[in-house]
Amino acid sequence: MNKDQLRAPRGTSDILPEDQKYWGYVQEIFSEIAVKYGFDRIDTPVIEQSNLFTRGVGEFTDIVEKETYTFNDRGGDSLTLRPEGTAPVCRSYLEHGMQNLPQPIRLFYQFPMYRYERPQSGRYREFRQAGIEIIGEHSPLVDLEVIQFACELVSKLGLSDLDLIINSIGDDNCRNKYIADLKSYYQNRISELVHVDCQGRLDSNPLRLLDCKDTNCQKLIQNAPKSLDYLCEDCLIHWNELLEYLDQLGIDYKIDATLVRGFDYYTKTVFEIVPRNQGGQSTILAGGRYDGLIEQIGGQSTPGIGFAIGLDRVIMKLKSESEDKISINENYVRCFVAHNGDDAKKFAIKVVTKLRDNGIRSVLGSPSRSLKSQMRYASSINALYSIIIGEDELRDGNLIFRDMLDSKQEKLDLNQIIKKIKNV
Ligand code: ATP
Ligand code: MG
Repeated sequence: MNKDQLRAPRGTSDILPEDQKYWGYVQEIFSEIAVKYGFDRIDTPVIEQSNLFTRGVGEFTDIVEKETYTFNDRGGDSLTLRPEGTAPVCRSYLEHGMQNLPQPIRLFYQFPMYRYERPQSGRYREFRQAGIEIIGEHSPLVDLEVIQFACELVSKLGLSDLDLIINSIGDDNCRNKYIADLKSYYQNRISELVHVDCQGRLDSNPLRLLDCKDTNCQKLIQNAPKSLDYLCEDCLIHWNELLEYLDQLGIDYKIDATLVRGFDYYTKTVFEIVPRNQGGQSTILAGGRYDGLIEQIGGQSTPGIGFAIGLDRVIMKLKSESEDKISINENYVRCFVAHNGDDAKKFAIKVVTKLRDNGIRSVLGSPSRSLKSQMRYASSINALYSIIIGEDELRDGNLIFRDMLDSKQEKLDLNQIIKKIKNV
């Protein structure tokens, strides 16, 4: 490649036409389930005030500490490219007075996120998530609904060999005691804590010690105190009720007492959907309850729960498993219009317009190319039919209509052609 040629920034990529079918497929299935479960779509800006994330996600989280794209705009305001969807959705909930509507509010979104990470397979700097949030309901019944939605989603997507793992990390009542014990457990083993990031986490955000993917830290994690042993009465009732609902619906889950989430705002239920027998690098979907978030960003104490699914990882998995699982919309151009000569060109514009008015996907040939080269182009874009217009056709009003699959052609007028294409 020429050294002056520009490329997409590191960690970002183009979604080329041939891959759009996967994106359309995944987004359509997600929206269908969302609408079926009574969720409404929301979109938020790509940029937010930076303190939404320092306050909402937490200063001592991976995201805010080292992954955000933050900059001052020309007016001097500090802005951040959205690294996750929950804090923006909750900001919008408050800003638009949704707390005054009958609760809970159910919202869904699909948008790109930005994190300054070390790019590798399944980990990018621009990636896309779809997510749901239920805001304003304490009951574990909505924890169940959110988890049920997540399971239905991965199953409808045809993804296989996945595990649902769940845990409860307690709330303000019980977590402090747990965190104190977790800290002293690690303090007593500080020499074994070789991972540099983890040494810092011990003071700033000890829960995140349990999220470390370093193999040395994994051993420590296995023997660390478990949040489930510390749950207060309220959290324990919530947890047991959720398990009861899951069992009642026959939803398979694995309790993973070391599961935590990277953000500060999570309380009680946390869950992930992960490929079976693989490390945390390949988590497809992650979520949990965030009863502390709305208060942190300036609202009244309000419960919430949701999840986000990493669409890039889903599509990577779909591609590696099987292409033919996907029933793709017929994306072929149905009719190509080739023409030869100035008058034919003018007539061809009318023909292609009429075809499109009739809902037929059509492409007009290039006037700078010979008929032969136009027909080669028609094959290259997989046109199903072609119409060929030369001087003879202009004279008698009957056009050459060619079936590109069996190369048969006949002379028909435009109305007959439209009927034929539409009847197929
Ligand atoms: P990880 O532990 O893999 O860094 P995370 O805890 O940061 O994930 P969340 O913020 O919970 O991830 O995001 C939910 C989902 O979004 C993840 O499970 C994953 O599928 C996807 N995701 C997160 N970060 C990236 C990324 N940089 N590139 C692609 N997908 C991502
Ligand atoms: Mg991360």
